[in-house]
Amino acid sequence: MKNVGMKDVTVKNVSETPASGASASEISSGATSAGVKSTGLRVSSLSVTYPGKPPVIAVDGADLSVAPGEIVALLGPSGCGKSSLLSAIVGVVEPSGGTVAWDGVDLAQTPVHKRGFGLVFQDGQLFPHRTVAGNVAFGLEMAGVPQHEREVRVEAMLALVGLEGYSARAITELSGGQRQRVALARSLAPAPRLLALDEPLSSLDADLRARLAVDVREILRESGTTAIVVTHDPAEAEVMAARVLRMRDGKFVG
Ligand code: ADP
Ligand code: MG
Repeated sequence: MKNVGMKDVTVKNVSETPASGASASEISSGATSAGVKSTGLRVSSLSVTYPGKPPVIAVDGADLSVAPGEIVALLGPSGCGKSSLLSAIVGVVEPSGGTVAWDGVDLAQTPVHKRGFGLVFQDGQLFPHRTVAGNVAFGLEMAGVPQHEREVRVEAMLALVGLEGYSARAITELSGGQRQRVALARSLAPAPRLLALDEPLSSLDADLRARLAVDVREILRESGTTAIVVTHDPAEAEVMAARVLRMRDGKFVG
């Protein structure tokens, strides 16, 4: 297997990329211009209501701030509105009230692909017909990153998630844990200014989950990624995040 550019790429390079801006700022749309201090995410009185008889109020006036580089966990039982809140922040669900802002800029009119936010799902949702490298390269292709730069970045991301040498592997030849690592590498590749992870470890067995929780935290820290991790597992929340916020019935509690 050919590891293109691998000898030039270290994890340190990767971790510096989002902050130092060079290619990362081209990739992640709407990055703060040089010299301006980022204030991060500010969610105010956010509500999500699904139509029906009666309508379902999934998120009920939630307030949340996440500072740049911070990792926050949303913890709560199934059905309390965690995924709905995350979806509204990322922009795949339209809020019924309130605002989502980054660096003080309201994102109501900013479509999902222009927010510079990434999303990791429980089951990874990898492209089964693409190789590992093809999956990780996806966001970079979308952003028009030139091929050589793409290859270097893909190898750096695979090194970051502990999958050096897996570039040419088929997705079907990976374990569940390896798939989630690929999903993480794919979403980190475009240097998102915020990464939303929705129960990223829930499809894995308990042993692997505990180990990967530590790894995910280290990967997020290493890359300086601002992140919101959703989980229903209190231990996992404590391991992964510096700050744990509890949700119940669409609201933050405690
Ligand atoms: P969690 O992620 O914490 O399990 P969700 O955000 O998925 O919670 O769901 C919150 C509430 O909204 C639940 O009552 C759920 O049934 C409801 N809900 C979620 N998605 C939809 C949808 N697309 N249409 C209608 N109701 C939904
Ligand atoms: Mg959910």
